[in-house]
Amino acid sequence: MHQANELKRVNRGYERVLSSMCTYPHPVAVRAHIDHIHTNLGDPNLFPEIAAFERRAIIILGGLLGAADAVGYITSGGTESNIQAVRASKLTSSTRKPNIVVPKSAHQSFNKARDFTGVEVRQASLDTRYAVDVTAVEELVDEDTICIVGIAGTTALGVIDPIPALAQVALENDAFLHVDAAFGGFVIPFLEKKYHFDFAVEGVRSIAIDPHKMGMSTIPSGGLLFKRPGDFDALSTNTFYSVESSMTGTRGGASVAATLAVLEHLGVHGYRNVVRECMRLTNLCVEEAAEFGVYPVISPVMNIIAFKLPRLQQLALRLTARGWRISVMEGALRIVIMPHINETTILEFISDLKELVKV
Ligand SMILES: *Cc1c(COP(=O)(O)O)cnc(C)c1O
Repeated sequence: MHQANELKRVNRGYERVLSSMCTYPHPVAVRAHIDHIHTNLGDPNLFPEIAAFERRAIIILGGLLGAADAVGYITSGGTESNIQAVRASKLTSSTRKPNIVVPKSAHQSFNKARDFTGVEVRQASLDTRYAVDVTAVEELVDEDTICIVGIAGTTALGVIDPIPALAQVALENDAFLHVDAAFGGFVIPFLEKKYHFDFAVEGVRSIAIDPHKMGMSTIPSGGLLFKRPGDFDALSTNTFYSVESSMTGTRGGASVAATLAVLEHLGVHGYRNVVRECMRLTNLCVEEAAEFGVYPVISPVMNIIAFKLPRLQQLALRLTARGWRISVMEGALRIVIMPHINETTILEFISDLKELVKV
């Protein structure tokens, strides 16, 4: 116990952390996680209640994403979800030299998917708004394309790709459309502006959505959902105990219980409030920075801001010296306004930024 307390003391919390897509889990999630810390979904017959929790969580996530009858499972995060979606597209196709087409802005997990599955990854260029260029995608697609990826909330800028147009290309070419909404899945449905990015768009076959990011569940919780049961079934393998569709064998049931608990506790209303506050602070931050001539690369769509700034490396070091955790991505200072950030923190950050850009 003594040692655990020591470890807790040296590990930082999320105060002044503007670089992470994770946050403090909701207390309801923490409670459920602790209560089920011993459970293993690698052996669902031993823990049928947790297996039922997972099915309920998938139904809620499906409802959030435009298909309450979607199927899938709770993964370890967006990386596993993306790898498994590519694997499902490969297992359901008969192509001998398969390729997938992803936006240049795609997460590196698609390169891991390539290493594991042997598919070729083709990167499509972006348009002037940093969304994938659909014409570039069409040029890269051929008869061996098994999967097209669209991103609903890019990691660097929070841009939403034109999912309906990508779905059209996927349908015409008999390819999978996988939507990577690892971050955006718990943001986009709760924004005032409506976007077409989910299963309501015909042609969307699978979606990655991470409860351990804006869903405020515990780590590790990702979600992978499929519209067609057959796509999910393609992932299943027989084990000594049962049938398993996950990438890992032994897997914790604790974060599954945590995910269901926070989903049911917050509900659509609760998440809308969380997202509304994050967006209010995002807009406040953009307005305050504009006062001293600092502007974002794009007007934020979600709670991610990338500021264009001179002498970026030097500035980043100075901010870090003051305890701020920020990231430098694509030549911009990128911050994510997660639920652990409050107005005081934003105003302190703005004050430091204002002072340091002048140095
Ligand atoms: C965070 C993120 C991932 C990876 O998710 P992990 O949970 O870190 O594995 C994949 N895609 C996007 C768009 C992300 O933002």
